[in-house]
Amino acid sequence: MPADVLFVGAGPANLTAAYTLAKRLDAAGKSSDFTIMVIEKGKSVGDHILSGAVMDPRAIAEAWGKDWRTRGCPVEADVTEEKVFTLTPADARPMPFIPPTLDNHGNVIVALSEVVTWMKTEVESLGVMVAEGQPAATPVIEGGVVTGVHLVDTSRNPDGSEGDGFALGAEIAAKVTVFGEGSRGSCTKILVDRLGLSGPNPQVYGTGVKELWEIPKGRIRKGTVWHSAGWPLPSTTYGGSWCYAQSDTRVSIGFVTALDGGDPGLDPFEIMQTWKRHPMMSALLADGTLIKGGSKTIPEGGWWSRPQSFGEGFLILGDGGSLTNIARLKGIHTAIKSGQLAGETLADALLKGDTSAKALKKYEDKLQASWLKDELWQARNWRQAFTKGFTLGSLHAGAMWVLGGSIFTDRLPIHSDASAMRHGDASANRHFKADGKTTFDKLTGVFQAGSVHDEHQPSHLKIADTSICAGKCKSEYGNPCERFCPASVYEMVDAPDGGKKMQVNFSNCVHCKTCDILDPYQIITWTVPQDSGGPKYLGL
Ligand code: SF4
Repeated sequence: MPADVLFVGAGPANLTAAYTLAKRLDAAGKSSDFTIMVIEKGKSVGDHILSGAVMDPRAIAEAWGKDWRTRGCPVEADVTEEKVFTLTPADARPMPFIPPTLDNHGNVIVALSEVVTWMKTEVESLGVMVAEGQPAATPVIEGGVVTGVHLVDTSRNPDGSEGDGFALGAEIAAKVTVFGEGSRGSCTKILVDRLGLSGPNPQVYGTGVKELWEIPKGRIRKGTVWHSAGWPLPSTTYGGSWCYAQSDTRVSIGFVTALDGGDPGLDPFEIMQTWKRHPMMSALLADGTLIKGGSKTIPEGGWWSRPQSFGEGFLILGDGGSLTNIARLKGIHTAIKSGQLAGETLADALLKGDTSAKALKKYEDKLQASWLKDELWQARNWRQAFTKGFTLGSLHAGAMWVLGGSIFTDRLPIHSDASAMRHGDASANRHFKADGKTTFDKLTGVFQAGSVHDEHQPSHLKIADTSICAGKCKSEYGNPCERFCPASVYEMVDAPDGGKKMQVNFSNCVHCKTCDILDPYQIITWTVPQDSGGPKYLGL
């Protein structure tokens, strides 16, 4: 199954790239000469897309045209007012000014899953083939050249043997394969490891837990944006909350917890639930209804964690390319801009008949010459500053921001999340009890995410050596995967020999990738499920 350009993942970066490419080929009268294909692991585009989200509209206007809104791109609200709070257990102190990084004047509140659904209809109208429910298992790499991807095998039995209707995953060959899989993409991870593409710093992540609520009228105005720092996070952990009013009665709320705090008992889902018990939040949510929820990771490392963005036969865009601006808490406009620059590069390459790495390097050159570089460069040391605690980090990061992004040295280092974990007992001090009204347990979270997988298939969570779970991991860390997974996938259960063994409830998985990132032994590998299962975030 050949394509000229194959896009892996239907997120904002890849769909923008496909749109820009298709438009340029169309303008050159060459659209029928080339096959452009987008494959998406979810059953529908948008199913696996989760974001806050406040979008800076600059990039979408540049890439999709100034008329992007009137052409039907869904926007929930324009940002009309903004507050930033510092939380203590009983108090919410508004900051007297909005830090420049959090100034959302002119931005819009969106549901990103809805935005990409609109983008899909636009690219299809230009002749781009969008194939949903097609999980790419591995990139095909021959002699350092990416020649396409292998889709996942289908109809394997739970033990991995071939079941009825078994078929090996098809290979989709392409002149150029564009990886826009989002945070910790499984093909991107293989590609970066195999070709040694890592940036100077390792990538670090936060796990965000989001909920959509319907609340009684009179508590918040459409277009209101709140952010908070502080409680319930310890001062050693980076993170904070958001509350975005899509209407007078519908709010998107969430909490992002950085994964490099070192505590083996870190539980981002529980932190989110605890935060909702703050008087400010419980007053907002009282008698409200939880509509949907979900979790995902966010690459926070920024500029110095960027992998090489191009090579023979491939490009890496968006979150996978570490283009989130964590200082601004924004990655949609940066993903879209990277997509535009990639689409322009690909159009030139196809029209000139040269898709070599030298031709694809123009994507990196364009990125380096664009406002995207300027924006990310100013934030290049932002996340690293917070490894010394939140208060010191805020002062350090703020000073660097004012000075253009650094003091004395261009690059501050950072440790990977897994390597930062300290020995301890993850299972100690587990007191949280959900009330079922404003706070919920993880299984309710799985239900709210709509996550379903066919149980008659091999687990897509691969643990290289489960004897480590009951042995070394239990004694050194107390099995932190039981805590950090927001979907109760990992469970130590009684073993027939009287000890404990690992049970992987893979059907609960909401595809956040926290386990692949934070497991301290790096023996968990997230792979694509063979049934295209997973969450249903459309509308969230
Ligand atoms: Fe996230 Fe891993 Fe749990 Fe799935 S198994 S929900 S990817 S932490």
